[in-house]
Amino acid sequence: GTIGTTPVYIGAAQFAAWKHTQLILDVVEGRGGMFSLDNGTGRRFLVRSRAYGEREIAMLHKADRLRAMQASIDSDTDAFWLAEAHRLDWSVFPTKADESSFGKADFGIRWFADGELNVSVNCLDRHLETRGDQPAIVFEGDEPGEGRTLTYRELHGEVCRFANVLKANGIGKGDRVILYMPMVPEAAIAMLACARIGAVHSVVFGGFSPDSLADRIADCGATLVVTADEGTRGGKRIPLKANVDSALERASGVDTVIVMQRTGGQVSMREGRDIWWEDACADVSGQCPPEAMNAEDPLFILYTSGSTGKPKGVLHTTGGYLLWSTLTYDLLFGPEEGRDVADDLFWCTADVGWITGHTYVVYGPLSNGARTVMFDGVPNYPDPGRLWETSQRLGVTIFYTAPTAIRALMRHGDRWVLQHDLSSIRLLGTVGEPINHEAWEWYHDIVGRGECPIVDTWWQTETGGALIAPVPGATETKPGSATLPLPGVHPELVDGEGHLLTGATEGNLVLTRSWPGQMRTIFGDHDRFFQTYFSTFPGTYFTGDGARRDEDGYYWITGRVDDVINVSGHRMGTAEVENALDEHVLVAEAAVVGMPHDIKGQGIHAFVTLKAGAEGSDALRQELRDLVRSEIGPFATPDVIQFAPDLPKTRSGKIMRRVLRKIAEGQPDQIGDTSTLADPAIVESLIEGARV
Ligand code: ATP
Ligand code: MG
Repeated sequence: GTIGTTPVYIGAAQFAAWKHTQLILDVVEGRGGMFSLDNGTGRRFLVRSRAYGEREIAMLHKADRLRAMQASIDSDTDAFWLAEAHRLDWSVFPTKADESSFGKADFGIRWFADGELNVSVNCLDRHLETRGDQPAIVFEGDEPGEGRTLTYRELHGEVCRFANVLKANGIGKGDRVILYMPMVPEAAIAMLACARIGAVHSVVFGGFSPDSLADRIADCGATLVVTADEGTRGGKRIPLKANVDSALERASGVDTVIVMQRTGGQVSMREGRDIWWEDACADVSGQCPPEAMNAEDPLFILYTSGSTGKPKGVLHTTGGYLLWSTLTYDLLFGPEEGRDVADDLFWCTADVGWITGHTYVVYGPLSNGARTVMFDGVPNYPDPGRLWETSQRLGVTIFYTAPTAIRALMRHGDRWVLQHDLSSIRLLGTVGEPINHEAWEWYHDIVGRGECPIVDTWWQTETGGALIAPVPGATETKPGSATLPLPGVHPELVDGEGHLLTGATEGNLVLTRSWPGQMRTIFGDHDRFFQTYFSTFPGTYFTGDGARRDEDGYYWITGRVDDVINVSGHRMGTAEVENALDEHVLVAEAAVVGMPHDIKGQGIHAFVTLKAGAEGSDALRQELRDLVRSEIGPFATPDVIQFAPDLPKTRSGKIMRRVLRKIAEGQPDQIGDTSTLADPAIVESLIEGARV
């Protein structure tokens, strides 16, 4: 409730949802009790609890909160995490926090292991009383203005109905359900419906081919698939149901396919297997009791984007993942003192097929009671002003996207942004890759009017939510740096032998302690989990990324460690050289990889795409070489500069450098798995271009 002149009575969990650290610390031992809030004056107000009587509490600014959190986590880590657990509604409150170990002997990741809760209750039921008629999901379709809004109450009803449909089709706790969907509210409804009954969802991005889909169905042993007749993206139709049909010719075990109508396009329905979403939901109750889940019960499996190799089935569980989504959403995107979370309209452009879509389109925002945008279109349809036109029309206040999208839009010039009034936007975010200076400046100056802070969030599918990122209003930013670890995150840099490096330096980025959002295993292959992440530098979680730490302790991600280039003994992250190339006015995007070199050991091969209208020439090659020489030093000068029409990217928009490496090494036959590439045809043209 709102703080009024009459006391309002709220439960401990709602109390914690006020999200002021000081409050949470104070209610920690009063769980289950009732509290009353009286409106105080200014930033202070009275809190009365049955257990502790009356006390005065101050509301804290984010900077104060962050400081308070850090102090409390340092003094008693377990107590801190149990206090933070009050952000969630539990049916059984945990008595233990972190029981994880990275060592081989007692290896395992466990958090809040004796607690019980349900994710859908936390994202829906607990908001009904206070936010029932408030928008939860604001849907924007592929065509501008095509959309609808679902309130928390509507969403709750839809989720319960679909949960009942899943149950009626034999799905129960622990069963795996594949979601191969457009970016429509039904995708979130299906995710939350799985969570409600304890089924484990695995969302497969709608851009994946039937073969990739079949691999994932087989790997996780799914028995039910939810899809749509067709998807629409940039005015084109994507044959989702037909893709499912061909995937199911290869993968067995699926008994039921539920198909929602998105376009009304023609599809074939197989008798006894395929049912329409709309029919199935028609006569179903809008009430569905939530399944009580142990904190360590699986919530979902999600396959990584495959930038470095074969995708891994990353498994996240219930309690820790939800707490990390809830906490990090609040810290990074939540309101300042005196404002409500729903004063903001939050738009994360990621697809729910990626972890960013899980954590910051669905679970984090909904658990906090926020208003979240789901966008089923693409940034350049109908024109490169789409994101800004939509932001203005919907009144978006927080905008979170990937550097690849920023670079792509920058290529078309400023006017597409400047045509629109973006004054509602107060905060910007990025995720997915290091953001080069030029893109950062453009995002900041043109999109953010030079006023909006940029929250550069470093994290991975494996980490569940952001780990290194600035807290707006509390952390000073530096363009291109993800800045500092969030509370409870313990990054270190180690050298090739695993020795801890101190001070301003560069090395392999590891985490020395667990955090609640950490993945628990690779589905079906716990050994691979240990081998992949915990065996390189024993006792630590190895991220696979390299980073530099500056004199202020800020982290600068330099790229994947596998991509580090060693030229005559100079070790360089790919990001540094790419940054320098990106500075040139004609360059849209650059990717560099190492190539064999007789004298230097490795040389540098740069793939460069140019801005619309620009032409590659030897003169431009020379300018680019000079630019890198002056920005970094002569040792970093590219040996080969190949102008390319486009770069090979994963379907989440990341440059797949291992493909470029094989091309640069002259071994295109060894490129390997390219099933997650957005446009495999690019590879041929790059191989061709490398020959001339
Ligand atoms: P795979 O693990 O299958 O190769 P992937 O690593 O691309 O695929 P994700 O989990 O989607 O799959 O991406 C995480 C990686 O993205 C990080 O390890 C890091 O390299 C990069 N990354 C994410 N956010 C940032 C950021 N803000 N700055 C720099 N790099 C980032
Ligand atoms: Mg990875």
